[in-house]
Amino acid sequence: MRWGILALGLLAVSGASSGPDGSFGAVFFPDPEVELTTPAFQKDKGFSTQEEVVKWFNQLPTNLPNAQVEPINLGTSPRGRSIVAFRVNGSDPVANPVRIWVQGALHGDEQATPDGVMQLVEMVLRNPELANGVELMVVPIANPDGYARAMRQSASGMDLNRDMMMRQGPENQLIMAVFKEFQPEVALDFHEYRPYRSDFTEIGSRGVTAYYDNMFLGSSNVNIPEVLRAEIAAYVDGAATAAAQWGYRTHAYFVPEDDRGSMRMRLGSASSGSTATNYALHNCVSALIETRGVGQGRSALKRRVHSMAVIGLAYVQKAAADPVHLRAVLDAAHRDPMGPVIELNQPIDQRRYTFIDLAKRDTASWRFATRDYAQMQARVRRPKPKFYALDKAALTPELIRSGFFVNQETKSLNQMAMAYEVTQRTEGLGANNQRTQKVVCSQVPTTVKGEFLIVAMDDIPSRLWYELFEPELDNSLVRNGLIECSVGKQLPYYAIYEETN
Ligand SMILES: [Zn+2]
Repeated sequence: MRWGILALGLLAVSGASSGPDGSFGAVFFPDPEVELTTPAFQKDKGFSTQEEVVKWFNQLPTNLPNAQVEPINLGTSPRGRSIVAFRVNGSDPVANPVRIWVQGALHGDEQATPDGVMQLVEMVLRNPELANGVELMVVPIANPDGYARAMRQSASGMDLNRDMMMRQGPENQLIMAVFKEFQPEVALDFHEYRPYRSDFTEIGSRGVTAYYDNMFLGSSNVNIPEVLRAEIAAYVDGAATAAAQWGYRTHAYFVPEDDRGSMRMRLGSASSGSTATNYALHNCVSALIETRGVGQGRSALKRRVHSMAVIGLAYVQKAAADPVHLRAVLDAAHRDPMGPVIELNQPIDQRRYTFIDLAKRDTASWRFATRDYAQMQARVRRPKPKFYALDKAALTPELIRSGFFVNQETKSLNQMAMAYEVTQRTEGLGANNQRTQKVVCSQVPTTVKGEFLIVAMDDIPSRLWYELFEPELDNSLVRNGLIECSVGKQLPYYAIYEETN
């Protein structure tokens, strides 16, 4: 959602109906007939404040006798707000409950997400059998500074959902430390998307607005083992079916992108800089759920919150229904022998998309050239290393801050390895305006000698190591500028395929 995001205030039509959708809002996005009592529904204006959210969680054991809640203070945001997680269990948990991560408001202007998260927690706890089978780690407001000011970015101006590989935002460092320790088996990250976009004015005679209540970003990153990608897709299908039972319309996430002046659609996602893929690379079933909402004020608030919770509940139920199967999939994914894919084929085809046509105030569909991440195929693959060995001297403050290497084992090595020699390098700018370096490397055999940090493929998050170390990949340490390089030189880390010393 980087390209040309602008609210179209002028389209915020007329009439008695509130919100930019005006009169057709009630037609296409009617509220469900349910009663919701999370904090936003206790008032007529605004959204839940962080204080109200924390209070809601702390009062859960009083309000629902089936609930056990442990607040965990992860630390403070740059503006001094607490980042809080809540460990939520049923009162009589099974021995090894399915570990489920639930997160909201990583983007601070996606203001219905904390209530979606709370509504989901409530639905889980209202079903004692389900609640006892799972353990939830809930971060209802991942970006409290942005949330307090209804801003997408963090207080330091960072898009935290583009920073999942660099982890230079303190919020992400605090959150990911707990994430890594918790080792979720399912991870849900709730977002809202902007249904009026400047590029949508180019479609139809007077522009269009989004038709879908919820869009799923699973992950089609080919470095996620196929067995896990298939499981992620099966969870999306299950959640879409659950949403449809309430009349909520869902679709795989799509967004316009500029293809030399004409619009095409990007369908799905694969970027490890964003949670959906990043969390899946930690070996779990991961989904980012986008709900139609940014810029909508409180219009259709009940529908937004309820649809998030219904979708989240489908994930929790599916995981709890068969933990043996889920764990078999995760284990198979972890042991998958495939090495890292460093080049892809990206087929383009034509697809039809439905929108609400603002001239007709009705649905209409258009065809667009589409780059579907689910169709991407591996073209160049390297073998799977036993481990990567990072020269200790290469540890800069930025690398240490990222938190990836804090608990890694150090080893003295003297053996053969593959070095990465840079053959091409071009500079650019990244999503958070950081300097990036796009490189091509060739692997050359070399002898490594000295003290190294060992990053083993046996460790979780195994597949994330591919994305960090294979230098050509879009979110590698090199690409993100966390490791400097120049043409003709070798990178300060190595792939070890056989350990010999
Ligand atoms: Zn978002």
